[in-house]
Amino acid sequence: MSDTQHPSHHDRTPGLVVAVDGTSGSGKSSTCRAVAGRLGLAYLDTGAMYRAMTWWMLEHGVDVHDPAAVALRSGEATVVSGTDPAAPTIHVDGTDVSGPIRGEAVTGAVSPVATVKEVRERMVALQRAIIAEKTSTGPGIVVEGRDIGTVVLPDADVKIFLTASAEERARRRNDQNVASGLPDDYEAVLADVKRRDHLDSTRPVSP
Ligand code: C5P
Repeated sequence: MSDTQHPSHHDRTPGLVVAVDGTSGSGKSSTCRAVAGRLGLAYLDTGAMYRAMTWWMLEHGVDVHDPAAVALRSGEATVVSGTDPAAPTIHVDGTDVSGPIRGEAVTGAVSPVATVKEVRERMVALQRAIIAEKTSTGPGIVVEGRDIGTVVLPDADVKIFLTASAEERARRRNDQNVASGLPDDYEAVLADVKRRDHLDSTRPVSP
């Protein structure tokens, strides 16, 4: 199969594929994990994969605002996603990064990394491999991200687009921050939500 083709669901059955697109803070993760748990499906958080790649770039001193530098190093990180909806995991080169990928440094740097074509190609290939495995050997998978129904899985059995207002999304993210010990700063979180929405929706690749 060439890079430009996607596996048609009908070539790939029997597993069920549920694609959930939407903005950050719209409730995608909670909804997807609950649905996957209820239906006995696997769960894949593609945002966590872009965050993991970003963590690796920061860890290796790569300038995330230099797309050529990010592209050059994008093949080096080994990102491994665990797909149990009750306990999703994410490792980079064997290190558990589930905590650090939710931190400020990664959250602030993920948008520019995720716009790099080479990063997206690599992540999408990895996502399709996981999806193919879960649908050929199991009951299926719920996949969440921003380009899942449009780019990664245009032939998914079920496609959902989930969103919420910037204010509501910021409120939820701020609550999550407070719960994980970060400062309570709704205005800063709201500004970041709006900034990332803008970057993600105006980027040339998979806006
Ligand atoms: O969903 P989450 O907020 O964790 O995603 C983090 C970032 O990863 C997004 O802001 C976006 O830049 C990027 N992303 C993406 N494509 C996806 C999932 C996430 O570009 N499928």
